[in-house]
Amino acid sequence: MTVAVTIDQVGKTFGKGAPALADVSLDVKPSELVALLGPSGSGKTTLLRIVAGLEEPSHGRVLFDGHDALSVPVRRRGIGFVFQNYALFRHMTVAENVAFGLRSRPRAERPSEAEIRTRVADLLDLVQLGSFGGRFPAQLSGGQRQRVALARALAIEPKVLLLDEPFGALDALVRKELRKWLRELHDRTGHTTLFVTHDQEEALELADRVVVMGKGRIEQVGTPDDVYDKPATAAVFGFMGESSRIEVEVKGGLALAGATAIAAATQAVPDGPGLLYVRPHDVSLGLPGTPGLEGEVRGFRRHGAIRRVEVSVGGALFEADIAPTVRVPIGEKVAVRLDRARLFAGSTGVDCRPPPPMQPGDYAI
Ligand code: ADP
Ligand code: MG
Repeated sequence: MTVAVTIDQVGKTFGKGAPALADVSLDVKPSELVALLGPSGSGKTTLLRIVAGLEEPSHGRVLFDGHDALSVPVRRRGIGFVFQNYALFRHMTVAENVAFGLRSRPRAERPSEAEIRTRVADLLDLVQLGSFGGRFPAQLSGGQRQRVALARALAIEPKVLLLDEPFGALDALVRKELRKWLRELHDRTGHTTLFVTHDQEEALELADRVVVMGKGRIEQVGTPDDVYDKPATAAVFGFMGESSRIEVEVKGGLALAGATAIAAATQAVPDGPGLLYVRPHDVSLGLPGTPGLEGEVRGFRRHGAIRRVEVSVGGALFEADIAPTVRVPIGEKVAVRLDRARLFAGSTGVDCRPPPPMQPGDYAI
Protein backbone atom coordinates (compact mmCIF):
# COMPACT_ATOMS: atom_id res chain seq x y z
CA MET A 1 0.00 0.00 0.00
CA THR A 2 1.90 2.99 -1.24
CA VAL A 3 0.52 6.32 -2.38
CA ALA A 4 1.44 9.46 -4.27
CA VAL A 5 1.54 12.62 -2.16
CA THR A 6 0.66 15.95 -3.75
CA ILE A 7 1.42 19.15 -1.90
CA ASP A 8 -0.35 21.95 -3.74
CA GLN A 9 0.43 25.59 -2.94
CA VAL A 10 0.56 24.98 0.78
CA GLY A 11 1.23 28.01 2.97
CA LYS A 12 1.39 28.50 6.70
CA THR A 13 1.68 31.68 8.73
CA PHE A 14 1.95 31.56 12.50
CA GLY A 15 0.62 34.74 14.11
CA LYS A 16 1.76 37.95 12.45
CA GLY A 17 5.29 37.01 11.39
CA ALA A 18 6.67 36.11 7.98
CA PRO A 19 5.15 32.92 6.61
CA ALA A 20 6.78 29.70 7.84
CA LEU A 21 5.74 28.22 4.49
CA ALA A 22 4.88 30.16 1.35
CA ASP A 23 3.07 28.40 -1.50
CA VAL A 24 4.99 25.16 -1.45
CA SER A 25 4.12 22.66 -4.19
CA LEU A 26 5.64 19.21 -4.50
CA ASP A 27 4.71 15.89 -6.08
CA VAL A 28 6.01 12.77 -4.38
CA LYS A 29 5.65 9.57 -6.38
CA PRO A 30 4.49 6.28 -4.87
CA SER A 31 7.41 4.54 -3.10
CA GLU A 32 9.67 7.51 -3.58
CA LEU A 33 12.09 8.57 -0.84
CA VAL A 34 12.28 12.35 -0.87
CA ALA A 35 14.57 14.35 1.42
CA LEU A 36 13.55 17.82 2.57
CA LEU A 37 16.85 19.59 3.09
CA GLY A 38 17.35 23.06 4.47
CA PRO A 39 18.74 25.13 7.30
CA SER A 40 17.01 25.38 10.63
CA GLY A 41 13.84 27.47 10.42
CA SER A 42 13.28 26.88 6.68
CA GLY A 43 9.87 25.26 7.28
CA LYS A 44 10.70 21.55 6.96
CA THR A 45 8.99 20.43 10.17
CA THR A 46 5.98 22.64 9.49
CA LEU A 47 5.52 21.02 6.08
CA LEU A 48 5.83 17.52 7.53
CA ARG A 49 3.36 18.31 10.33
CA ILE A 50 0.85 19.59 7.77
CA VAL A 51 1.14 16.38 5.73
CA ALA A 52 0.71 14.39 8.96
CA GLY A 53 -2.35 16.39 10.00
CA LEU A 54 -0.70 17.71 13.18
CA GLU A 55 -0.87 21.26 11.81
CA GLU A 56 -3.47 23.00 9.64
CA PRO A 57 -2.17 24.90 6.60
CA SER A 58 -3.25 28.52 6.19
CA HIS A 59 -4.01 27.66 2.58
CA GLY A 60 -3.37 24.97 -0.01
CA ARG A 61 -4.14 21.30 -0.50
CA VAL A 62 -2.57 17.97 0.38
CA LEU A 63 -3.67 14.96 -1.65
CA PHE A 64 -2.96 11.26 -1.21
CA ASP A 65 -3.43 9.50 -4.55
CA GLY A 66 -5.46 12.47 -5.73
CA HIS A 67 -7.82 12.43 -2.74
CA ASP A 68 -8.00 15.31 -0.28
CA ALA A 69 -6.05 14.29 2.82
CA LEU A 70 -6.67 17.42 4.90
CA SER A 71 -10.27 16.46 5.63
CA VAL A 72 -9.16 13.04 6.90
CA PRO A 73 -8.56 12.98 10.68
CA VAL A 74 -4.98 12.29 11.79
CA ARG A 75 -5.81 8.84 13.11
CA ARG A 76 -7.22 7.75 9.78
CA ARG A 77 -4.65 9.39 7.55
CA GLY A 78 -2.32 6.40 7.60
CA ILE A 79 0.85 8.21 8.61
CA GLY A 80 3.90 6.71 10.28
CA PHE A 81 5.84 9.49 11.99
CA VAL A 82 9.30 9.39 13.56
CA PHE A 83 10.72 12.48 15.28
CA GLN A 84 14.28 13.33 16.22
CA ASN A 85 13.70 12.54 19.87
CA TYR A 86 10.95 10.02 19.55
CA ALA A 87 9.99 9.45 23.13
CA LEU A 88 9.25 5.75 23.27
CA PHE A 89 6.97 4.86 26.15
CA ARG A 90 9.50 4.25 28.90
CA HIS A 91 7.31 1.97 30.97
CA MET A 92 6.56 -0.30 27.99
CA THR A 93 8.84 -2.94 26.56
CA VAL A 94 10.13 -2.65 23.01
CA ALA A 95 7.48 -5.11 21.81
CA GLU A 96 4.71 -3.21 23.62
CA ASN A 97 5.90 0.03 22.08
CA VAL A 98 5.77 -1.44 18.59
CA ALA A 99 2.33 -2.97 19.26
CA PHE A 100 0.91 0.24 20.69
CA GLY A 101 -0.63 1.64 17.50
CA LEU A 102 -2.38 -1.65 16.74
CA ARG A 103 -3.60 -2.29 20.29
CA SER A 104 -5.11 1.17 20.56
CA ARG A 105 -7.30 0.70 17.50
CA PRO A 106 -11.07 0.41 17.97
CA ARG A 107 -12.03 -3.19 18.57
CA ALA A 108 -13.59 -3.73 15.16
CA GLU A 109 -10.31 -2.78 13.41
CA ARG A 110 -7.91 -4.33 15.88
CA PRO A 111 -6.05 -7.45 14.76
CA SER A 112 -6.20 -10.47 17.07
CA GLU A 113 -3.59 -10.65 19.82
CA ALA A 114 -1.88 -13.51 17.97
CA GLU A 115 -1.72 -11.44 14.77
CA ILE A 116 -0.33 -8.48 16.69
CA ARG A 117 2.42 -10.63 18.21
CA THR A 118 3.38 -12.04 14.83
CA ARG A 119 3.47 -8.61 13.26
CA VAL A 120 5.57 -7.16 16.07
CA ALA A 121 8.03 -10.04 15.80
CA ASP A 122 8.29 -9.53 12.03
CA LEU A 123 8.86 -5.80 12.45
CA LEU A 124 11.53 -6.30 15.10
CA ASP A 125 13.26 -8.70 12.72
CA LEU A 126 12.97 -6.11 9.96
CA VAL A 127 14.73 -3.48 12.09
CA GLN A 128 17.25 -6.10 13.26
CA LEU A 129 16.11 -6.08 16.87
CA GLY A 130 14.54 -9.55 16.88
CA SER A 131 15.79 -10.48 20.32
CA PHE A 132 15.13 -7.11 21.98
CA GLY A 133 11.34 -7.29 22.34
CA GLY A 134 11.46 -7.77 26.12
CA ARG A 135 13.81 -4.89 26.82
CA PHE A 136 12.83 -1.44 27.99
CA PRO A 137 13.88 1.69 26.04
CA ALA A 138 16.40 2.66 28.74
CA GLN A 139 18.25 -0.59 27.99
CA LEU A 140 18.84 0.39 24.34
CA SER A 141 21.37 2.61 22.57
CA GLY A 142 20.16 5.76 20.78
CA GLY A 143 20.38 4.08 17.39
CA GLN A 144 18.43 1.06 18.61
CA ARG A 145 15.73 3.33 20.03
CA GLN A 146 15.28 5.05 16.68
CA ARG A 147 14.98 1.66 15.00
CA VAL A 148 12.23 0.77 17.49
CA ALA A 149 10.56 4.11 16.71
CA LEU A 150 10.67 3.21 13.03
CA ALA A 151 9.23 -0.27 13.71
CA ARG A 152 6.46 1.41 15.70
CA ALA A 153 5.73 3.80 12.82
CA LEU A 154 5.61 0.89 10.36
CA ALA A 155 3.34 -1.25 12.58
CA ILE A 156 0.17 0.52 11.51
CA GLU A 157 1.01 -0.19 7.84
CA PRO A 158 1.19 3.49 6.98
CA LYS A 159 0.52 4.85 3.52
CA VAL A 160 3.17 7.49 4.04
CA LEU A 161 6.23 7.55 6.27
CA LEU A 162 7.33 10.91 7.66
CA LEU A 163 10.74 11.11 9.30
CA ASP A 164 11.79 14.38 10.95
CA GLU A 165 15.56 14.35 11.54
CA PRO A 166 15.24 10.82 12.94
CA PHE A 167 19.01 10.43 13.34
CA GLY A 168 19.68 14.03 14.37
CA ALA A 169 20.53 13.26 17.97
CA LEU A 170 22.89 10.37 17.20
CA ASP A 171 26.64 10.50 16.79
CA ALA A 172 28.17 10.68 13.32
CA LEU A 173 29.14 7.02 12.92
CA VAL A 174 25.77 5.68 14.04
CA ARG A 175 24.04 8.18 11.76
CA LYS A 176 25.99 6.89 8.78
CA GLU A 177 25.16 3.29 9.56
CA LEU A 178 21.46 4.02 10.04
CA ARG A 179 21.39 6.02 6.81
CA LYS A 180 22.54 3.02 4.83
CA TRP A 181 20.25 0.75 6.78
CA LEU A 182 17.22 3.00 6.16
CA ARG A 183 17.91 3.09 2.43
CA GLU A 184 18.00 -0.71 2.32
CA LEU A 185 14.86 -0.95 4.44
CA HIS A 186 13.09 1.46 2.11
CA ASP A 187 14.11 -0.55 -0.93
CA ARG A 188 12.48 -3.60 0.65
CA THR A 189 9.32 -2.01 2.05
CA GLY A 190 8.72 0.75 -0.50
CA HIS A 191 6.79 3.24 1.63
CA THR A 192 6.40 6.69 0.17
CA THR A 193 8.75 8.55 2.48
CA LEU A 194 9.45 12.20 3.32
CA PHE A 195 12.72 12.50 5.21
CA VAL A 196 13.67 15.81 6.83
CA THR A 197 17.31 16.65 7.43
CA HIS A 198 19.60 19.66 7.62
CA ASP A 199 22.56 17.41 6.71
CA GLN A 200 23.27 17.63 2.99
CA GLU A 201 25.41 14.50 2.98
CA GLU A 202 22.56 12.53 4.51
CA ALA A 203 20.09 13.89 1.95
CA LEU A 204 22.37 13.17 -1.03
CA GLU A 205 23.14 9.65 0.09
CA LEU A 206 19.62 8.60 1.03
CA ALA A 207 17.14 10.20 -1.25
CA ASP A 208 15.78 9.55 -4.73
CA ARG A 209 15.12 13.27 -4.94
CA VAL A 210 16.18 16.19 -2.79
CA VAL A 211 14.01 19.21 -2.07
CA VAL A 212 16.17 22.12 -0.95
CA MET A 213 14.23 24.56 1.22
CA GLY A 214 15.08 28.05 2.35
CA LYS A 215 12.93 30.55 4.25
CA GLY A 216 9.65 28.73 3.74
CA ARG A 217 10.16 28.20 0.03
CA ILE A 218 11.44 25.44 -2.21
CA GLU A 219 14.73 26.61 -3.74
CA GLN A 220 15.24 23.55 -5.93
CA VAL A 221 13.95 20.02 -6.47
CA GLY A 222 16.12 17.44 -8.17
CA THR A 223 18.12 14.26 -8.02
CA PRO A 224 21.16 14.32 -5.72
CA ASP A 225 23.29 14.89 -8.86
CA ASP A 226 21.12 17.81 -9.99
CA VAL A 227 21.23 19.72 -6.76
CA TYR A 228 24.93 19.09 -6.13
CA ASP A 229 26.22 19.67 -9.68
CA LYS A 230 23.72 22.27 -10.91
CA PRO A 231 22.55 24.32 -7.95
CA ALA A 232 19.82 26.65 -9.20
CA THR A 233 20.47 29.44 -6.72
CA ALA A 234 23.38 30.82 -4.73
CA ALA A 235 21.59 29.72 -1.54
CA VAL A 236 21.49 26.10 -2.76
CA PHE A 237 25.15 26.13 -3.76
CA GLY A 238 26.16 27.56 -0.41
CA PHE A 239 24.16 24.91 1.36
CA MET A 240 25.32 21.90 -0.68
CA GLY A 241 28.71 21.02 0.66
CA GLU A 242 31.77 23.17 1.07
CA SER A 243 32.46 26.09 -1.21
CA SER A 244 34.19 29.42 -1.51
CA ARG A 245 31.99 32.40 -2.34
CA ILE A 246 33.53 35.31 -4.20
CA GLU A 247 31.94 38.63 -5.06
CA VAL A 248 32.77 39.39 -8.68
CA GLU A 249 32.01 41.89 -11.39
CA VAL A 250 30.69 40.29 -14.58
CA LYS A 251 31.85 41.78 -17.88
CA GLY A 252 31.31 40.14 -21.24
CA GLY A 253 30.83 36.69 -19.68
CA LEU A 254 33.94 36.93 -17.56
CA ALA A 255 33.91 37.01 -13.76
CA LEU A 256 36.38 39.60 -12.49
CA ALA A 257 37.88 39.72 -9.04
CA GLY A 258 39.48 43.14 -8.92
CA ALA A 259 41.11 43.44 -12.35
CA THR A 260 41.62 39.69 -12.79
CA ALA A 261 39.31 37.49 -14.87
CA ILE A 262 39.02 34.38 -12.74
CA ALA A 263 36.31 32.44 -14.58
CA ALA A 264 34.46 32.40 -17.89
CA ALA A 265 30.73 31.68 -18.08
CA THR A 266 29.69 28.91 -20.47
CA GLN A 267 26.37 30.64 -21.18
CA ALA A 268 25.23 34.23 -21.59
CA VAL A 269 25.06 36.18 -18.34
CA PRO A 270 24.18 39.84 -17.76
CA ASP A 271 26.95 42.29 -16.93
CA GLY A 272 27.00 43.61 -13.37
CA PRO A 273 27.66 42.28 -9.89
CA GLY A 274 27.69 38.51 -9.44
CA LEU A 275 28.57 35.77 -7.03
CA LEU A 276 30.99 33.02 -7.99
CA TYR A 277 30.90 29.75 -6.07
CA VAL A 278 33.62 27.14 -6.31
CA ARG A 279 34.21 23.90 -4.43
CA PRO A 280 37.67 23.19 -3.00
CA HIS A 281 38.04 20.00 -5.07
CA ASP A 282 37.44 21.99 -8.27
CA VAL A 283 40.43 24.27 -7.67
CA SER A 284 43.87 23.10 -8.91
CA LEU A 285 47.21 24.52 -7.84
CA GLY A 286 50.35 24.44 -9.97
CA LEU A 287 53.88 25.81 -9.96
CA PRO A 288 54.22 29.51 -10.84
CA GLY A 289 54.36 29.96 -14.60
CA THR A 290 52.10 27.00 -15.38
CA PRO A 291 48.62 27.79 -16.78
CA GLY A 292 46.40 29.51 -14.27
CA LEU A 293 45.97 32.67 -12.28
CA GLU A 294 48.68 34.21 -10.15
CA GLY A 295 47.95 33.35 -6.56
CA GLU A 296 49.55 33.22 -3.19
CA VAL A 297 49.19 30.66 -0.39
CA ARG A 298 47.61 32.20 2.70
CA GLY A 299 47.16 29.19 4.93
CA PHE A 300 46.51 25.47 5.06
CA ARG A 301 45.12 22.80 7.32
CA ARG A 302 44.60 19.07 7.36
CA HIS A 303 41.08 18.09 6.32
CA GLY A 304 40.40 14.34 6.42
CA ALA A 305 42.19 12.61 3.54
CA ILE A 306 43.35 15.86 1.89
CA ARG A 307 45.11 19.10 2.70
CA ARG A 308 43.02 22.24 2.29
CA VAL A 309 44.92 25.29 1.18
CA GLU A 310 43.72 28.87 1.25
CA VAL A 311 44.95 30.95 -1.69
CA SER A 312 44.34 34.52 -2.76
CA VAL A 313 43.90 35.63 -6.36
CA GLY A 314 43.32 39.29 -7.18
CA GLY A 315 42.14 39.89 -3.63
CA ALA A 316 39.67 36.99 -3.67
CA LEU A 317 40.19 34.03 -1.33
CA PHE A 318 39.66 30.41 -2.40
CA GLU A 319 40.10 27.06 -0.79
CA ALA A 320 41.79 24.29 -2.76
CA ASP A 321 42.17 20.61 -1.92
CA ILE A 322 45.59 19.07 -2.56
CA ALA A 323 47.37 15.85 -1.69
CA PRO A 324 48.50 15.83 1.95
CA THR A 325 52.01 14.87 0.85
CA VAL A 326 52.48 18.24 -0.87
CA ARG A 327 54.05 21.02 1.24
CA VAL A 328 52.90 24.57 0.53
CA PRO A 329 54.56 27.22 2.67
CA ILE A 330 52.53 30.32 3.47
CA GLY A 331 53.49 33.13 1.10
CA GLU A 332 54.39 30.71 -1.75
CA LYS A 333 53.39 31.89 -5.22
CA VAL A 334 51.22 29.37 -7.07
CA ALA A 335 49.24 29.09 -10.29
CA VAL A 336 45.54 28.71 -9.46
CA ARG A 337 42.95 27.23 -11.82
CA LEU A 338 39.22 27.11 -11.13
CA ASP A 339 38.43 24.00 -13.16
CA ARG A 340 34.73 24.42 -12.42
CA ALA A 341 32.75 27.16 -10.81
CA ARG A 342 29.19 28.42 -10.85
CA LEU A 343 28.24 32.02 -11.42
CA PHE A 344 25.05 33.61 -10.14
CA ALA A 345 24.54 36.88 -11.93
CA GLY A 346 21.04 36.63 -13.35
CA SER A 347 18.08 34.60 -12.23
CA THR A 348 19.82 31.22 -12.36
CA GLY A 349 23.30 29.77 -12.01
CA VAL A 350 25.59 29.08 -14.98
CA ASP A 351 28.68 26.90 -15.14
CA CYS A 352 32.10 28.49 -15.58
CA ARG A 353 35.42 27.30 -16.99
CA PRO A 354 38.90 28.80 -16.63
CA PRO A 355 39.15 32.12 -18.52
CA PRO A 356 41.42 32.53 -21.57
CA PRO A 357 44.96 33.69 -20.68
CA MET A 358 45.10 37.38 -19.83
CA GLN A 359 46.93 39.90 -21.98
CA PRO A 360 48.58 42.93 -20.38
CA GLY A 361 45.97 45.67 -20.03
CA ASP A 362 43.01 43.29 -20.34
CA TYR A 363 39.96 44.12 -18.22
CA ALA A 364 41.83 46.74 -16.24
CA ILE A 365 39.36 48.91 -14.39
P1 ADP B 1 12.66 23.68 10.31
O1 ADP B 1 12.02 22.39 10.67
O2 ADP B 1 13.10 23.78 8.89
O3 ADP B 1 13.77 24.04 11.26
P2 ADP B 1 10.16 24.86 11.20
O4 ADP B 1 9.13 24.33 10.28
O5 ADP B 1 10.25 24.24 12.54
O6 ADP B 1 11.58 24.85 10.46
O7 ADP B 1 9.91 26.41 11.41
C1 ADP B 1 9.73 27.31 10.34
C2 ADP B 1 9.39 28.68 10.91
O8 ADP B 1 8.13 28.66 11.54
C3 ADP B 1 10.38 29.15 11.96
O9 ADP B 1 10.58 30.52 11.80
C4 ADP B 1 9.65 28.86 13.26
O10 ADP B 1 10.07 29.74 14.27
C5 ADP B 1 8.21 29.06 12.88
N1 ADP B 1 7.29 28.19 13.67
C6 ADP B 1 7.25 26.86 13.62
N2 ADP B 1 6.30 26.36 14.44
C7 ADP B 1 5.73 27.45 15.04
C8 ADP B 1 4.67 27.64 15.99
N3 ADP B 1 3.99 26.60 16.48
N4 ADP B 1 4.38 28.91 16.35
C9 ADP B 1 5.03 29.96 15.83
N5 ADP B 1 6.03 29.86 14.93
C10 ADP B 1 6.38 28.63 14.54
MG1 MG C 1 12.55 20.97 12.13
